[in-house]
Amino acid sequence: MRALNITDLQNDFMPGGALAVPEGDRVIAPANRLIQHFEFVVATQDWHPHDHGSFAANHPGCEVGSVIELGGLPQILWPVHCVQDTFGADFHPNLETARIRRIFHKGVDPHIDSYSGFYDNGHRRSTGLGEYLRDHDVDELFILGLATDYCVKYSVLDALHMGFRVAVIEDACRGIERQARMASAYSARPAAPYSPLYGPSGPWRRT
Ligand SMILES: [Zn+2]
Repeated sequence: MRALNITDLQNDFMPGGALAVPEGDRVIAPANRLIQHFEFVVATQDWHPHDHGSFAANHPGCEVGSVIELGGLPQILWPVHCVQDTFGADFHPNLETARIRRIFHKGVDPHIDSYSGFYDNGHRRSTGLGEYLRDHDVDELFILGLATDYCVKYSVLDALHMGFRVAVIEDACRGIERQARMASAYSARPAAPYSPLYGPSGPWRRT
């Protein structure tokens, strides 16, 4: 069965948000259209406690963009974003959420970050997303959302690793880095409604 996974379409990742992804709000309209075409829709939310270790503000003397060690892993420091039960963590107000069956939260442990919707960055704890999809006989996953070069990318890698067939819906994704946005534009296939770019031989293959 096919499923659609909506990645982190939250206010803090939108223009004007704490960790804005350029043109992040441009994916809301295509996301809403796609939601209507899938029987099975799930979503993830970045969902941090206020004392999360990925926030530069929680490391006196460190700046946004610095790299520290967190949970034994290199960690880029981000602005405070997507704090649980705040406006910034809410879905964009125009996102049509009624058909989302279940929302999976990530980044809840203050001691480790989680880009993927499936696992934290150390693959120590599952969010339950992969098990939920398997329990419902999902074998093909379509992924859209923010940001292409972080949470979408690592969700794709984990989904491939778990054996799902994966397609990234390019025009419903935006990246943080300019290079990622250019790569996205370059690989767009206007003739197809989606671009299944990230199969086992694709550019994000786990090595
Ligand atoms: Zn985060």
